[in-house]
Amino acid sequence: MSETVDITCPCGQCKVSVTEKPVACCICHCVHCRTNSQALCVENVVFPGGKIVILKGSVVDSTRPDLQFVAHSCSGCGVRVFLTNKYRMDCFAIADVRRCYGEEAVPDFCKYTCHLSYGERLIDVNDDKPKFLNFPLGLGGSGKMCQPDGTPIEE
Ligand SMILES: [Zn+2]
Ligand SMILES: [Zn+2]
Repeated sequence: MSETVDITCPCGQCKVSVTEKPVACCICHCVHCRTNSQALCVENVVFPGGKIVILKGSVVDSTRPDLQFVAHSCSGCGVRVFLTNKYRMDCFAIADVRRCYGEEAVPDFCKYTCHLSYGERLIDVNDDKPKFLNFPLGLGGSGKMCQPDGTPIEE
């Protein structure tokens, strides 16, 4: 089954698409994501780099050297459509998936399954999703998990 998600910017000039299994669908608590998004934590669906295709319109790239993020924004309205992180993976904000699909129609693979960089969090989240202290082993982290209050879970 192919997993495709399309994002259209608010002005409608720019449309991008990806057909690829996400690397992660997560709430990230890291200081980079928080600073970049000016938010308490960030809900992202993360794809391998270079898989997002521009179907319509064009994007303008802007770099935040302090955060090693590249934002790709609609050349018409200037709103970010996707982001490349320092690991060269491309991310959609799940907020944009909701905006484009509606809350009820968000594809299942765009619903968050875990928390990343939970050790850097500003708030505790009392849900039942796995909480990685930093990153899973497969993404270059320690793979260590913790409780909602940050207590490490021993293997
Ligand atoms: Zn992050
Ligand atoms: Zn636009």
